[in-house]
Amino acid sequence: MLLCELASLIKQSRYVAALTGAGISTSAGIPDFRGANGLYATRRYDPERTFDIQWFDRDPSVFYAFARDFLNILSRIEPTDTHRALAQLERQHLLATVITQNIDGLHQKAGSEHVIELHGGFRYAHCRECGQGYELEELKPSIFAGKIPLCGSCSGVIKPDVVFYGESVQGMDEAIAHVRQASLLLVVGTSLTVYPAAMLPQLCPGTVVCIGYGTRETGVSGTEYIEKDIDAVFAELQHLLPRVS
Ligand SMILES: [Zn+2]
Repeated sequence: MLLCELASLIKQSRYVAALTGAGISTSAGIPDFRGANGLYATRRYDPERTFDIQWFDRDPSVFYAFARDFLNILSRIEPTDTHRALAQLERQHLLATVITQNIDGLHQKAGSEHVIELHGGFRYAHCRECGQGYELEELKPSIFAGKIPLCGSCSGVIKPDVVFYGESVQGMDEAIAHVRQASLLLVVGTSLTVYPAAMLPQLCPGTVVCIGYGTRETGVSGTEYIEKDIDAVFAELQHLLPRVS
C-alpha cells in the first residue's frame, strides 16, 4: 500500500485504532527486550525471572535491578516522530485510541490521551500485601538507591503495575471493544508474536495495515503491509494528511 493511499484511508475511515509494539520505541533508544541488542541480551537479565510474579514475591531484587536501569534509560529519552504523529492524529480526531504492548509510557509523554497499556506501565504501583496504591515518583528514591520499595502501611513489597508473566493483561476487554468497531486498524512496530495482543487484528472488521519492517502475517485476509522505516512513514503521513480529502 502506498503512503498516499494510507493517508486517504485514515481520513475516510469512521473509526481508527492503532496497536503498537516495541518497534516504535527502538529509535527512541529503548532496545527491543527480545532483540539481539535487547535489554535481556545486553544486560544479562533473565526474562524468566525478571517478569515472573512468583519469582518477584520470592526475590524482588531481580526485577528492581532491571527497573533501575530501565527507568534510567526512560529519563533520558524522548518520544519518536511516530509517537508524536499518533498523538497528533488523536488531536485531529483521526485516531480514537492507541493500544500498546509497550511499558515505556512514551505515548503519554508524546501527548496521546487515550492509551490502553496491555502490559501495564511504571507510572503506578501497588503493595503486594495490602494493595495500597503508589505513584512511581514515590518509589524512585528507593529504586535508585538500590533498595526494594516497601509499603508505608504494612511494610509489604511494592510492585509497579507492569504486567508480569503469570498475570492477566490489562484493558483487554476495552481493547477488543475498540478493535471490533474499527474500520481501520494500524498495526505499528509489532511482530504480533505475543498473545493475546497478537489476536486483536483478527477481530477487526475493517482494514488492517501493518507498518514496519519484519511485520508478519496477521492471519487476516486483505491485510495491507507497509514494510518501511516506521518514523519515516509517520513523518511522511504528517505531510500527506492535510492534503488529502
Ligand atoms: Zn501494604
